[in-house]
Amino acid sequence: MSLATDARRTTAHAAFWMMTRRVTILAAGVDIVFFGFFLWAGSPLLAWLNVLSVGLYAAANRLLVWRRNRVALALIWLEVVGHAVIGTLWVGWEAGFNYYLLMFIPAIMVSGDWPRVGVPLGTLFLTYLGLHAASSELGPLAPIDNTALVLVNVFNIFIFFTMASYTARFYYLLVRRTEGRLREHAMCDALTGLFNRRQLIALADGEMARARRDDTPLSLALVDIDHFKQINDGLGHDVGDQMLVHVSALFLACCRASDTVARWGGEEFLFLLPNTDADAAFHFAERVRRAVVGQPLTSEHTDVACTVSLGVTTLAPGETLDDAIARADQALYASKSAGRDRVTRAGAAPAITDWDGRTAC
Ligand code: GH3
Ligand code: MG
Ligand code: MG
Repeated sequence: MSLATDARRTTAHAAFWMMTRRVTILAAGVDIVFFGFFLWAGSPLLAWLNVLSVGLYAAANRLLVWRRNRVALALIWLEVVGHAVIGTLWVGWEAGFNYYLLMFIPAIMVSGDWPRVGVPLGTLFLTYLGLHAASSELGPLAPIDNTALVLVNVFNIFIFFTMASYTARFYYLLVRRTEGRLREHAMCDALTGLFNRRQLIALADGEMARARRDDTPLSLALVDIDHFKQINDGLGHDVGDQMLVHVSALFLACCRASDTVARWGGEEFLFLLPNTDADAAFHFAERVRRAVVGQPLTSEHTDVACTVSLGVTTLAPGETLDDAIARADQALYASKSAGRDRVTRAGAAPAITDWDGRTAC
């Protein structure tokens, strides 16, 4: 498993335990309300049971702070099951303490794969049925008056709704966040944060369609870091990585809102420049080149300078992206051959067609 996957799992786990801590605080608050209520309703045993519950939730909360998560979870289970069973047997099924057992259904179902969750789910089902049967058979062991019973029932329904909504929302937001991360990973380069090759190709499709529709020029600039291997070999791969991040930030700073830059491959980047003709693209590329020369990477011990070579081209009507990139690549190669740290314009496109692919007159 990759480090990134580990980090995502850790974040999801941390969020789960944070949610569990919040639930312990909410549940302790509920039990404090119940303490006063059952004293008023004339059921001191249930009142003192709630004091015990507050103690258990406080202990579980502390254990979660100390990262003794499994022990904390065991305490929470003990409290919920014990409270539901005693409350139901004491004042009757109609009091609604049984609802709290249902909170375990989503908790069990998201805790693992199917064969693993079957046993606790079955146990919960049998406990629920058994409690119902016992409560019907025995009747309330310490009945409270009807008004108090209705109030407890309404309160328990309200708390159950609140807790079920809160936890369901938690799982929903977790899925949304994970989805967002996956989308980002599919679109972006992990090191530099720039768009990756696949995303640039997808965006280029849209830009080419727009250029065709609006009859505006669309240019490309292909950039390659000069002698990058020497940076890796001389200063280490980490400094090489830092340099890639550094130049990426410089590239982004050179872009207008409508421009796009992507990491095209190792130390090669591609700019997509909508509404930019050949001259403007050349000047843009010069600005990029000068930005890199003028702003070396400030590393731990020393400044590391580098240069870049660029090849620029403007898409010809009817031309494919691959053909235009191939021309930009030839121009880049010419920059390298001529001594690097320079910009070369690609030769004229062979295409003599208009944007619709028709032969121009
Ligand atoms: P030139 O001026 O002709 O472009 O020479 P160069 O040394 O830049 O080019 P070459 O293709 O010989 O070397 C590119 C190097 O980039 C080789 C590869 O190990 C390194 N590289 C590719 N991706 C990464 C990366 O993500 N991090 C680091 N640190 N190095 C990378
Ligand atoms: Mg290079
Ligand atoms: Mg290269």
